[in-house]
Amino acid sequence: MSDIEDILAQLREGAEHPWRAVEQAKAEGRAVAGCVPYFFPLELVHAAGMHPIELWGGGSSTGAAGSYYPAFYCSLLFTLMERVLDGSYDDLDCVIVPTTCDGLRNLEENWKFARPDAAIIDVVQPTVRTTPEAHAYMVQQLHRVAERLETITGSRITERAMRTSIALYNRQRAALRRFSALAARHADSIAPCMRQAVFAAARSMAVERHTALVEQLDDALAALSVHEFPGIKVVLTGVLVDSPSLLVELEKNGIAVVGDLTISESARYSHDVPGRVDPFDSLAALWERVRGVSVALDPLKERGELLAALVRERGADGVVMCSVKFCEAEEFDVPVMKQQLEAQNIALLVLEMESQEVASEQAATRIQAFAEMLGDRSGTGFCAADSREGCARTHENG
Ligand code: SF4
Repeated sequence: MSDIEDILAQLREGAEHPWRAVEQAKAEGRAVAGCVPYFFPLELVHAAGMHPIELWGGGSSTGAAGSYYPAFYCSLLFTLMERVLDGSYDDLDCVIVPTTCDGLRNLEENWKFARPDAAIIDVVQPTVRTTPEAHAYMVQQLHRVAERLETITGSRITERAMRTSIALYNRQRAALRRFSALAARHADSIAPCMRQAVFAAARSMAVERHTALVEQLDDALAALSVHEFPGIKVVLTGVLVDSPSLLVELEKNGIAVVGDLTISESARYSHDVPGRVDPFDSLAALWERVRGVSVALDPLKERGELLAALVRERGADGVVMCSVKFCEAEEFDVPVMKQQLEAQNIALLVLEMESQEVASEQAATRIQAFAEMLGDRSGTGFCAADSREGCARTHENG
């Protein structure tokens, strides 16, 4: 097995079995905090000496969450609630729930009702993000979370520990940004599902181990000679693009992912936490710096422009948006984004998915048609039948 295959196998194992990292942290005597999306700074949990794991729901649905959410709520919330009800999160020492959208605002209450003993820490992120008042409010929220974490662990979070954690997570961000650029240059070696696994592993693996593996992977990729990828190149956008069958469908149609503006992937790693005198001040700045995603208010509507810039930078042929069904934030972004991309003659495919859903026949047909349309446009004469087999995989839910 080559170095690259070996590193990818380790990252893939981390992505497919997120609870192994939790078991290990518990065995080492560390408390574990579940972190619900979006954009809570994991540095604070790490500085408290705890292990953070991101919770994105997923998995099968028995319908039990229907007593808490009506059927028209998004699958991410629905399956998160299902996992609460089936006890998947019972061993967590606490859960941090940011309140980015209306559904997430209800999650805290629903969770408490379903599991009265669970330690739930809510975080109210200001909707208007870039004013001094919003910043001061976010600092205050982070202090409140820190106090709750200190109560759970029985130890104080020191400024020194926070600075160390900030440096570690910034290093992880840099490694993932470099990986994204290198994966675009080596699209022939990094299939869509492998690229996704590198990001997904960060949701549960210890940051130290994940960063070390991604840095090794980056170095190994940088040493490879570059071969022009013969198929179609796209940039992905959405909240979460985790469906293994969708990623395999891309691969089967000769489509490589050469960049993304996806919340669960690059959007989270685009900006470092700044080094300021007060580490709470530094962490609060993270929410202000988020750009081009539906869950963070953007009066300038930059998402389409940022995607267009990424398409140009990476030499992509088009954009694929995986929109979570019933997510209003995503739905509101589509018309403006579509207009901005059309104005620059960039093709957009919008697929509405349940989170981690098996790609439907209809989605598969639309991906194939998109690949053929882009193949004609780019003059490559690319044919989906020329493409490789997909690398199907299964995974546990985080
Ligand atoms: S997918 Fe949309 S509706 Fe669902 S939790 Fe995320 S932001 Fe809220």
